[in-house]
Amino acid sequence: MVARGWREGLYARDMTDTDCLFCRIVAGEIPGDTVAETDTVLAFRDVSPKAPVHVLVIPKTHSPNVATLAASQPALLAEMAAVAQGVADAECGGEFRWIFNTGATAGQSVFHVHGHVIGGQDLGWSPA
Ligand code: AMP
Repeated sequence: MVARGWREGLYARDMTDTDCLFCRIVAGEIPGDTVAETDTVLAFRDVSPKAPVHVLVIPKTHSPNVATLAASQPALLAEMAAVAQGVADAECGGEFRWIFNTGATAGQSVFHVHGHVIGGQDLGWSPA
């Protein structure tokens, strides 16, 4: 058995995974409530919001997690950050929490990197 970890994504860059929920949203096969978009990044509302503002920011190409993306395409991660800030500027006064659950034990359920933009209320600090 071959161990699978974040490095596998180094070989998955620029790919689309037909079994991936978020790749299917990018492709328009599953509807998404889009709030912002660039050539390379999509932002859409989380279907199960945890705060008044809860938007997912993803690269349009498949990468499994934030570490893989940062290692392989840092400029794309920077583009995601700019889009996240733009969403927060438009929806919650520019202040927000950006969460990347990384790995199943950390709560990651969709293995296409996504940053949760959370805001619109006083968030406090109780991450675990
Ligand atoms: P995570 O658990 O960090 O992998 O986050 C995955 C997020 O995707 C969860 O917050 C889900 O509510 C959200 N989600 C699942 N399916 C959809 C969908 N079809 N459209 C929008 N958000 C979704």
